[in-house]
Amino acid sequence: MELNLTGITGPSSVQSDKPLKVLVIGSGPAGFAAALYAARAELEPLVLTGMELGGQAALTNTIENYPGFPEGVGGSELGDLFQRQAERFGARVEFDTATSVDLSQRPFYVKTESGEYRAEALIIATGASPNHLDVPGESELTGKGVSYCATCDGWFFKDKKVVVVGGGDSALEEALYLTRHAATVTIVHRRDELRAGLILQRRAKENPKIDYIWDTVVTGIVGEEKVEAVRLKNVKTGEESTFETDGVFIFIGHTPNTQIFEGQLEMDDLGYLVVDSLMQTSVPGVYAAGEAADPHFRQVITSAGMGAGAAIQAGRFLEAQED
Ligand code: NAP
Repeated sequence: MELNLTGITGPSSVQSDKPLKVLVIGSGPAGFAAALYAARAELEPLVLTGMELGGQAALTNTIENYPGFPEGVGGSELGDLFQRQAERFGARVEFDTATSVDLSQRPFYVKTESGEYRAEALIIATGASPNHLDVPGESELTGKGVSYCATCDGWFFKDKKVVVVGGGDSALEEALYLTRHAATVTIVHRRDELRAGLILQRRAKENPKIDYIWDTVVTGIVGEEKVEAVRLKNVKTGEESTFETDGVFIFIGHTPNTQIFEGQLEMDDLGYLVVDSLMQTSVPGVYAAGEAADPHFRQVITSAGMGAGAAIQAGRFLEAQED
C-alpha cells in the first residue's frame, strides 16, 4: 500500500506532516455520503474503507427502499455508485482499517493496519456487525454451512435445506433471497410473532418454500465437516429436538463497531455512539453517522442522511476554528 498521500505518514514522522482536514472512517452509505459532502466543500476527505467496502448495504442483494431507484438497485452496485460519486469530487479512498484512536487532542490521531493519520475533524461511520448466537458449533462451522450473509453464500445451497434464525427484516429479506437457491427455507424464531415489516411478512408467507418454527431457539449447530443439523428448544414447552439442515443463516441483529472508541467517546449501553442532532459526539470535531450511532432506523437512506449532516457540521466546525 502506498503511504505517500497527503496526511498519511510513516510511523516515525506522524507529527511532521500536515494533517488531513477530514478523515472518514467507514465506507458504507454514511461514510461515502459524508465523503461526498466533505469533498464538495473542498475539505479533501480521505475515506478508510475498513474490512467491508460498501458496508453492510453492499452485502444486500437488492435494495428496494433507497429513493431514486424505482426498480431497486443491487447493494454492491449502490456502494460502487456512492464511491464513484464521492471520488468524482476529489474524495480519496484507502483500503485500510482503523485499529486505535487518540481523540484527546486535535489533530486527532488514528492508527490503522498500515499507517497513521492525523485529522482536524473525524467522521465515524464504522457501521455494525452481525450478532452471533454464541451456541456450540457456530464458530467451528462458520463458512461450512453457518453464514451471516445470504447474498454471499446462498448460491452454495442450491436445492438444499436451510434454516434462517431471526424474525426481523433481515431474516425475512434474506430468507426470501435464499428461496432462489434452496429447496426449503425454515425460519426459526424465538417468538410467535415476527418483528419484520408487513410487506416482507406477506411476501414470505406467500412463498411456498418458506415455513416456520415458532417459539424456538437454536441451542447448538451439529456437524463434523459441514452443518448437518441444528439443535432446537421450544421456549414455551421446553421440548428439545434436532432438525436436519444443510445450512444455518443467522440474522439476529447487529452490534455497532465502536470498540476502538471506548473510553474516549460517550456511548449508550449497547455501544452506540451518542450524537446530538448535529451528529456531534462528545468530543468537539468528532462526528458519527450511520449504524455506529443509530440504534433506531438503520436504513441506507437514514445512514446516508446522517453522513451528509456530519460532513456539513464538520465543515462548519473547521470554519469556526479559522476565525
Ligand atoms: P432486528 O430488527 O433487531 O431483528 C433481530 C431479530 O432477531 C428479532 O426478530 C429478534 O427476536 C431476533 N433475535 C435477537 N437476538 C436473538 C437471539 N439471541 N436468538 C434468537 N433470536 C434473536 O435486526 P435486523 O433484522 O438485522 O434489522 C436491523 C435493522 O435494519 C432494523 O431496523 C430493520 O428494520 C432494518 N432493516 C431493514 C430492511 C428493509 O427495510 N428492507 C432490511 C434489513 C434490515 P425478537 O423479535 O424476539 O426480538
